[in-house]
Amino acid sequence: MLDFNPDDVAFPNGHYIDGVVISDGLEHLAVRRPSDNKVYADLSIGCPEIVDRAVASAERAFRKTSWATGAPRERARILRRWADLIEGHAIELGRVEALGSTRPITDIIAVDLPYAADCIRFFAEYADKLGGDIAATRTDNLGMVISEPYGVVAAISPWNFPVNQAVTKIGPALAAGNAVVLKPSEMTPFSAVRLAQLGTEAGMPAGIFNVVQGTGMATGDSLCRHPGVGKISFTGSTRTGAAIMVASAESGLKPVTLELGGKSPQLVFADADLDKVARNIAKSIFGNAGQVCVAGSRLIVERRVEDELVDRVVRLSQAMQPGPTWSSQTSFSPIVSTAQLDRIDGMVRRTLDAGAEALIGGRRLAEIQDGAFYEPTILTHVTSEMEAVREEVFGPVLTSQSFDDEEEGLNLASHPTYGLAAGVHTADIGKAMRAVRSIKAGTVWVNRYGRTADYIIPTGGYNGSGIGKDLGRQAVEANMRLKSALIDF
Ligand code: NAD
Repeated sequence: MLDFNPDDVAFPNGHYIDGVVISDGLEHLAVRRPSDNKVYADLSIGCPEIVDRAVASAERAFRKTSWATGAPRERARILRRWADLIEGHAIELGRVEALGSTRPITDIIAVDLPYAADCIRFFAEYADKLGGDIAATRTDNLGMVISEPYGVVAAISPWNFPVNQAVTKIGPALAAGNAVVLKPSEMTPFSAVRLAQLGTEAGMPAGIFNVVQGTGMATGDSLCRHPGVGKISFTGSTRTGAAIMVASAESGLKPVTLELGGKSPQLVFADADLDKVARNIAKSIFGNAGQVCVAGSRLIVERRVEDELVDRVVRLSQAMQPGPTWSSQTSFSPIVSTAQLDRIDGMVRRTLDAGAEALIGGRRLAEIQDGAFYEPTILTHVTSEMEAVREEVFGPVLTSQSFDDEEEGLNLASHPTYGLAAGVHTADIGKAMRAVRSIKAGTVWVNRYGRTADYIIPTGGYNGSGIGKDLGRQAVEANMRLKSALIDF
C-alpha cells in the first residue's frame, strides 16, 4: 500500500556539504506542502558563506579525490550503485518527494524514480567511453583534442519533478567527471539531499555532490556568480534563465545550459487516431496539473474533428481524481502554491474577459484540505493574442484553436517566443514530416507526446525555451570542454 501519513515522514533538512547535512544559516524560510498548504519545515537559506563552503568542498573533491583523476570505470560503478540505491529506497525517497511536491506517490513510484535510476545508469555508461581525437598535421607533429570536465558544475533545478530534474542535471555532469553543487527549488528542497546522501552511500567521495538550499535571488544568484564554478546548468523559467545569463556574463562568462519554459502546440489532423490523441493530450496538459515544461497546452486541431476530439479529452479529464500526493487514489495533482494558483486563475480570468469561453473548468477546485487545486480547464473561442494562449500558464489549462488547411495549422502552431516541444498527430507521413521541419521547437513528437524514458534523446528548446541540450550523449559533452594540444617532436 503506497498511502502514507505525511506527518510521519522523516527527511534531511539542511544543506549537504562535504558529505554532511548542515543546517547553519541566519535566515530561514517556511516550506509548505502543496497538498494541504501546511508548513512542514523551516529551511535554512544558504548565504554566500554557505555557498562558498559548498563550492570549496566541490573544488577540493574534484582536485583531490579519484573522481576525476582515477579510473573512469570506477566512477561508472559508483553511479550504477547510486541508481540501485535509489531503486532500493524508492518508498522512503518517494515519500520525501511526494510530501513537499505536486507529484502523487503512485506516479513517483511507478514513473519518476525508475526513470531517475535508469537515467543515471544511461549516463554511467559514458563515464569510461569519453575519448578524444588525435590528428597528425605533419610527420613530426601530433595534435590532440582532449575532453576535460569543467571542475565544479552549478546545477539549479525547479520544483515540478524535483528528483528527475536534479538527476537530469547531475547525472551527465558527474559522469563527465565534474563535482556538482545543486541548488534545488526552495519549494521542494529535501529529496535532493536524500539523493545526495544515497550518492555518498554508493561511494561518491565527500564533496562530489553538494546541495545548497535557498531562494533564487539569494543562494542561486551567489552560486552562479561564484568564481569557483566552471559551468551553470539550469532548468526553470525563461525569466530566470535570462537573469542567469546576466550573472554568468558578469562573473567571468561561464558557459550555460538553459532548459526553460514552453507553450507547446499539439497539432492534430483529422486523419489521426483520435482516441490515442485524446489520451496524449489529457496526459500532457492535466498530468501534474499542467505543471510540466513540455505541457501540450495549445491544441490546434483540424476543424471537422475539433468537437469530437475535445469531447474525448473532457471525458478523460472527468476520470481524474484530485487529492493529496500521499494518497494512492490521487491522479490529479495540487498546484505548487497558492501564489501560483492565483497566477493561473488571473491568466484564465483575463482570457475569459477577452472573449474566450470555458468549456470545462476555469476556476479553482473546491478546497481539498486547504490544498491549492485548479479544475482541468479547456478554453475555446480563443485567438493567438490572448494571454492564456500566448503565455506559459503552468497549470491544467488547454486552449483549443481550429484550422481548415495544413498551412493555417502550421502557422497557428508556431509561437513568437517559445520553442520547447510540439506534438503532431496524423496518419500521413508527408504531413508529419512537413510539420517536423516547419515547427521551430527543440523536440517534435509524432503520434505520441511526452518524455517517457527518452533520456537517450537530447532535449532542449529553441528561442526563448533555452540554450543547449540536456539528456542524450550531448548532455555529457555539454559538461566537458575541449582542449587542443599540439606537440612537435
Ligand atoms: P524558476 O525559474 O522560478 O526557478 C527555478 C530555479 O531557479 C529555482 O531553484 C529557483 O530558486 C532558482 N532561481 C530563481 N531565480 C534565480 C536567480 N536569479 N539566480 C539563480 N537561480 C534562481 O522556475 P520554477 O517556477 O521553479 O519552475 C517552473 C519553470 O521551469 C517553468 O517555466 C517551466 O517551463 C520551467 N521548466 C523547464 C524545463 C525544461 O526542461 N525546459 C523543465 C522543468 C521546468
